[in-house]
Amino acid sequence: MGKSGFIPVMLGLLMVCSTMSGCLGDDIFESGDKKGIPGGLTLACLSSAKYTSMVVEIDYEPGYMPEQSSVNLLKTRLQEVCDKPNGIQIELTETNFEHSGSWTANDVREKAWEHKSNQPQTGSTLYWQALFPSSEYSNDDVLGVAVDASTVAIFKDTVEDAEGPIFSRPSAEEIENSVLVHEFGHLLGLVNLVYKSPVDHEDKDHPGHSNNEDSVMYWAIESANLGNIITGELPDEFDNDDLNDLSGMLSGEIAVTDQIWLP
Ligand SMILES: [Zn+2]
Repeated sequence: MGKSGFIPVMLGLLMVCSTMSGCLGDDIFESGDKKGIPGGLTLACLSSAKYTSMVVEIDYEPGYMPEQSSVNLLKTRLQEVCDKPNGIQIELTETNFEHSGSWTANDVREKAWEHKSNQPQTGSTLYWQALFPSSEYSNDDVLGVAVDASTVAIFKDTVEDAEGPIFSRPSAEEIENSVLVHEFGHLLGLVNLVYKSPVDHEDKDHPGHSNNEDSVMYWAIESANLGNIITGELPDEFDNDDLNDLSGMLSGEIAVTDQIWLP
């Protein structure tokens, strides 16, 4: 989610959701506009009680195919935290979104659901989705967004613009690696999106983000200015606080809200 603007909207949805009956449960995808909030499928990913396999559908506009290193890293990071005995697969599909101009969170959500190739979350396979569209986000400081419980987008043009000067780091490829994992971290509920961490590691000025510059959930990771903020190597993994939050949610030690599916 964008570091400015989107989280307040999301928190608004969260409050609406908690007052509605029917927000929880398997029927959520059967009717209406129940796409959940980022973190709404956290337990579905962490646990294998219902979803024993996972497919990440990546829909990219011609010329916007993700780096192979980003795809591999995302799969590795998901495998490290999500229990999927029948495997995690990544499916790449070239897609023309037929969208002109910049993207809002709503545009991302609508186009994603229009192009989802599977009826999601109905069987034992969990489906998450990443869009790699052409053009930029409406706030062109944003490299990536998480817009609902199963959908993120990465803005490759902005990622390329964020690359440091020649011979300096990070490269566009390294930025894409980290931003992709970061946005899926939001789908995993990080940081404090659907729970309250026992450890104070959420950045005070950037809700939903880590204050640790060694975490991939660090607030600057999705900002086009990240090259100016982080001069060394970009983090591309969850830190111990992130990992402990995830295992606490799975074990039940940490209460989890707004779940589309509960064990
Ligand atoms: Zn973020």
